[in-house]
Amino acid sequence: MKPGKQYKIETLAVHAGHSVDVGTGAVTEAIHLSTTFERDADGGYSRGFLYSRNHNPNRNGLEAALAALEGGAASAAFGSGLAAVTAIFQGLMPGDHVIAPVDIYHGTANVLKHLFAKWGITASFVDMTNLDGVRKARTPQTKIIWIETPSNPLLQCVDITAIAEIAHQHGARAIADNTFASPVLQQPLALGCDMVMHATTKYLGGRSDVLGGAVVSRLNDEHFAELRCAQLFGGAVPSPFDCWLVMRSLPTLPYRMQAHCANAQKVAEFLQQHAKVSVVHYPGLPDNPFHAIASRQMSGFGGMLSFEVKGGKDSAMALAAHVEIFTRATSLGGVESLIEHRASIEGPTSKTPQGLLRVSVGLENADDLIDDLISALTHCS
Ligand SMILES: *Cc1c(COP(=O)(O)O)cnc(C)c1O
Repeated sequence: MKPGKQYKIETLAVHAGHSVDVGTGAVTEAIHLSTTFERDADGGYSRGFLYSRNHNPNRNGLEAALAALEGGAASAAFGSGLAAVTAIFQGLMPGDHVIAPVDIYHGTANVLKHLFAKWGITASFVDMTNLDGVRKARTPQTKIIWIETPSNPLLQCVDITAIAEIAHQHGARAIADNTFASPVLQQPLALGCDMVMHATTKYLGGRSDVLGGAVVSRLNDEHFAELRCAQLFGGAVPSPFDCWLVMRSLPTLPYRMQAHCANAQKVAEFLQQHAKVSVVHYPGLPDNPFHAIASRQMSGFGGMLSFEVKGGKDSAMALAAHVEIFTRATSLGGVESLIEHRASIEGPTSKTPQGLLRVSVGLENADDLIDDLISALTHCS
């Protein structure tokens, strides 16, 4: 690729962070398992590698690719999405305050409540669809406003540009978890955020076979330097093989996202007109309350949706018990369609409606997915 030239996302997905190996001419990357690297005769490391926790060729390639896809200046990859979340909050000081969505990914809430609260970092969980509520939650100590849109499991969308402004007016940073949308459908840095976080476990990995996380920063500034310290000193780095697996999936990401969106739209439209379904949560439906905001800030509505069946928990469980193409499992973003009763996995404190099922719409034919739902829905009460 020509340095400085602006390429489209499909081209970046194939080429960014990839290079033909100078030693062998290999077109695809080798997996560099070596933990240690040879010094020069003068004691230096002119080839840039010293020890694999600090730098590894596979991780460097992945970080370059993710920075290019999100349009950021720098990126750091981690061993899981929550390791990336943890590294971000490790940059805060005791007394600092975080504003986060009330429907934040429950694992991120656990990091704040169970790991950082005891170090004196406080968090307010607010409804971010109400911008006044976000403004009122700010304190002089607020350092980060965390954004997650579309949200889990109700697919609520919040105004990224407006929330980033609310953060910046107060000297706080806006950081977006972009896992549900992927950089193909939504680019938070271009909408004003300072950092973007991903669980590469999901759409970026795309195959339900690798756990990973990453942060991309708009600027290579002191906040990114702190994050890099958390990565290098804390050591929550992904293995070379895990980096290689994510890199292997990135070239197909733009095309997979197109297909996920098209299938989810068809499934959502089918569910919406079904007598046993009371509500479908999918921003691609024109009468969804978040359709306008999603249309403004996303280029597609994504592969995630949820719906509520009449008859509550028993009815939802009966449906999930009778699917044959969908798999009953948590997680998302893989080629296979998954269905999950969220209230069960979230536990007794969950506020998720008992009749709700969350679906990660995969890359099967949408008609087969709909047929599977038609027969499973006959088991609802
Ligand atoms: C899965 C997920 C995470 C956490 O990623 P892990 O790789 O499971 O640690 C964070 N945010 C969202 C939105 C997710 O879906």
